[in-house]
Order: sequence, then C-alpha cells, then structure tokens
Amino acid sequence: MSKKILKQNIKVYLIWFLAVIILTACGSTEIPVYQETGKNVVCEETQSTASVQLSEEPTVSDTSELNTEEETTETEIQLMMVGDNLLHMGIVRTGKQSDGSYNYDFLFEGITDFLAEAEIKMINQETIFGGNALGFSGYPAFNSPTEVGDAIVKAGFNVVLHASNHAADKNLGGLLHCVEYWKQYPEVTIVGIHGEGESPIRILTIEGIDFAILNYTYGPNLETMPASVKGHLDMLCDYDEVTGKINFTKLHPQVLEDIAEAKELADVVIVCPHWGTEYTTKPSAYQQQFALQMTEAGADVIIGTHPHVVQPVEWIEAQNGNRALCYYSLGNYVSTQKKPLCMLEAVAWINFKVTEEGVTITEEDTGVFPMVCHYTAGPVRLDSVYLLEEYTEEQAQSHGILSYGGVALDWGELQDWSREVFGEFVLSVE
Ligand SMILES: [Zn+2]
Repeated sequence: MSKKILKQNIKVYLIWFLAVIILTACGSTEIPVYQETGKNVVCEETQSTASVQLSEEPTVSDTSELNTEEETTETEIQLMMVGDNLLHMGIVRTGKQSDGSYNYDFLFEGITDFLAEAEIKMINQETIFGGNALGFSGYPAFNSPTEVGDAIVKAGFNVVLHASNHAADKNLGGLLHCVEYWKQYPEVTIVGIHGEGESPIRILTIEGIDFAILNYTYGPNLETMPASVKGHLDMLCDYDEVTGKINFTKLHPQVLEDIAEAKELADVVIVCPHWGTEYTTKPSAYQQQFALQMTEAGADVIIGTHPHVVQPVEWIEAQNGNRALCYYSLGNYVSTQKKPLCMLEAVAWINFKVTEEGVTITEEDTGVFPMVCHYTAGPVRLDSVYLLEEYTEEQAQSHGILSYGGVALDWGELQDWSREVFGEFVLSVE
C-alpha cells in the first residue's frame, strides 16, 4: 500500500478552515471577491482539498463562528524515529575533516525531509559519547565523538535515546560524561541514562500535548548489572538486587511502574525498549510478552531497537482494553555491518490527531518509510541513507558490502524483505 504522507497537516486544517469560507462563497450566487482578485483558482483547489477532509467531518454547511472554531482546534503532530546510530570506525573516520576536526552532518542528509516535517524527532544513539579524550573506538566497546551529538542537534532531533547495550562500554565514567555532555543542549530530551536520582520519565510537550518518553535496555552487554551503573541506566530486564544477575526473561517491575506514572503525567506514553534477538526479523516470545505487559500498563506507542535488522509493526490489544502501536525493531540507522539484511532499515512515522476528545493515531498516515544504509569500501566510508523506493539497482551493486563483507547487496531482496516484514505499514513519499 502506498500513501502520500509528507504534508504539513496543520496547514491542511488551515486550508480546510479557509475552504469552509471559500466554499460558502463558491456556493453563493455572488463571488465577486474571488473573481476580482483572481482567486477563483484557489477556490477550485480548496474545494478538492476540502472534499477529502469534509468526508471525515460532521456537516459543515453551518459556517457559524462556533463551528469553525471547533474545527480549527484540530491539529496533527507527526513523530519520526530512526533506529540504531551504530558508529563503527569507518563511519567515525568518514567524519574526519582535512584539518583534523570532526563533522557528522552528513549522517542526516538522507532524512532532512522527515526531520523538516515532524515535530517529534527521535534517534537511538547506540554508542556512548564517553569523552573524546578517551580516543574513539568501534566494536566491541564503542566510544563515539561528541561531534556526532552536535550533528544530531543541528539536524533537529529533539529526543535522543541512550539506553543500549553499549551505554556502559566506557563504564560509569563514560556514561556520566555523556550525561554531562548533553546538558549544553537543554532543548533535547535525553532518555535512558541519567544522573543519580533523576527520574527516567521525561515529558516532551508539543502544541500543548504532553508526550512521556521512556527508554530501557535489556542490559549492558553483561550477564550481571554492574553496581556502579545502577540508577544511571534504565533497565528493561529484571536483575537480582544482591548479585546483579540479569533475568532476561522477566520485565523489570520498574518499567510497568514508570508507565503507570507516565500515564498520569502525560497525554501519550511512548516506550522505547532496546531488546530482541540480533539478526532476527521476527520478534521473540519475550518481546511479544513484554510488549503486551507494557500495553496493559498504559503504553500507547512502543518503538523497539537493537536487533540490527527490521522487525514488524503491529497493533497490540491487551485484555484490559488498552491498545498500543508496536514497532518491534527499526534496524540500524547507520552501520558498516556485513550482512545485507542489516542495510535495510525504517523511519517510523506516526501521525497523532489532536481533537478536544483527546489524541488518537491516524492509522492511514502511520507506518514506516523503508530505507537503505549505503556505505562504500576501500576504505570503508559511510555514504548516506536512501529511501528504498528511490534506491536503484546500480546503487545496490556499488555498495561497499561486496568488498568489505564479501557478499552482494541484492536490490530485489531488499524489496522482498521490506514487503515481508512491514506489509501494509509501508508508506511512500510518492
Ligand atoms: Zn544494541
């Protein structure tokens, strides 16, 4: 299914408001104002726009002041999110400038349209900004340049998720350096890691609507939770308070308590779990179980990361009547991994409709934009991310994964995987 999404919905309602007035004029026998000013074309255009909107609305023949005021209170808020910003050293080196400085603005050039259109802009920062003085490193214990964070801010993201299995790669010191680093950007909401005693619940207010955003990781790449990191990294899985041993099959009770509290504080609760089985396009039984528990507790949206590959989107219905939209995994935003499946990713796109009755998700304008991460080789460097619908066979053939990973990127397979995993949730910019 292909749907056109990239529009400024607030403008749509302004157009609709104007259309009510203009339609009235069009319907009357006297429309001198529009004819004289040459706006009769506008009149035709807004009629067609209005007809789409009017089909969903109550009767609009009454253009009383009260009616138009009611209609103009409706707005829409767009959320976009990308997956794991996984900074392998080839990507770190791509940002090195001739003068020795670092700049990562290129990371986000492929998604500027989404960033321009959405009000809530989220990214999963997989790797930690542990401090440039430590030196940069890739797998298995990452440390990424703070200049990546600067580029995230410059690109316009306003929510950065940090609860990942790499959050403690540089121990508590690296994690706290990252927390301190972000304090220079108070306009950006940081979730998943925090200072001592700080709440894991963060609220982002957009046009008067409060969105609570929660972020948890299954663990820090260890079997036991380090005592030093407790209280600084928000945990998805339960662990023994004494030994620190993590139980990967049990949701941490704090998650459900936080969701319940967030439900009291906010209009919409968004939970972002870092979870799942790597390289698997189907959600595990534990992901499904945790998602159901989160839905029962009050999550409205669940957006997962970590498996390095995409996983499906689905509506979850809990027995208590709660309903949540769940994206199990968006895949890597960028990486230089060597599996072709890791090059397919998604931009999550959610359209919230705000009326006097509350906030709802407009299902026909909600889903994913499939994307492809493209890197070159010899040496390995990140090129950009591309919309799958615009990605060509020639590009796939030139992908650096062939020489770096020893395997070709098959354009047809990318299309098949996207269809199989996302099905009806695929959106199009066409
Ligand atoms: Zn991860």
